[in-house]
Amino acid sequence: MAKLFFKYGTVFSAKSLNLIATAHNYETQGKKVLLLIPQIDSRSDGHVATRAGLKLPAEIVAKTTNILDIYQVHLQKKQQIDCVLVDECHMLEKEHIDQLRQIVSNYDTPVICYGLRVSYTLELFEASKRLFELADKLEEIKTVCWYCNNKATHNLKLLDGKPVYEGNPIDIGGLEKYVPVCYKCYEHPDVEKVIHNPHKTDN
Ligand SMILES: [Zn+2]
Repeated sequence: MAKLFFKYGTVFSAKSLNLIATAHNYETQGKKVLLLIPQIDSRSDGHVATRAGLKLPAEIVAKTTNILDIYQVHLQKKQQIDCVLVDECHMLEKEHIDQLRQIVSNYDTPVICYGLRVSYTLELFEASKRLFELADKLEEIKTVCWYCNNKATHNLKLLDGKPVYEGNPIDIGGLEKYVPVCYKCYEHPDVEKVIHNPHKTDN
């Protein structure tokens, strides 16, 4: 029986790299994967990209997209789908998660969602909340805190090197930077300890 997976982590936990490795494993066995990525802004170019420079084409999910429609187009073209992989799933709408659940239940196709659990404002993303409610299997993708060696559990927003704790949970494309942190460092980040800007070599 296929399952709905939510593999969650902080920023810099190599979620996209994990997704690309999974896609590679399916493809080397001659199996077909459907890659999905939310339309975050006008710059969304339909790729899953990693910080390590790997890139794979993905189908864009806009706010009003019904993911079942995307899936059915492939079925109508007689293209078997062995697995659905979703990048940045926290940016989806709650309804999209219900649609992914239906793909698992109606077509017995596994769906693996990769994304963040909570925002820098310490709120569950709507889509992540829905995944916690509907997923068959939850898995944490781990990384270490930027400032110490504890496990990172949260995302700290930095603007001009200063922590920011309030605002729109989803903000993209600005000058803000995010780093993975443990809760202690979320509250009291030793910002002087940052030895380099992680985003200088980003993308
Ligand atoms: Zn820490």
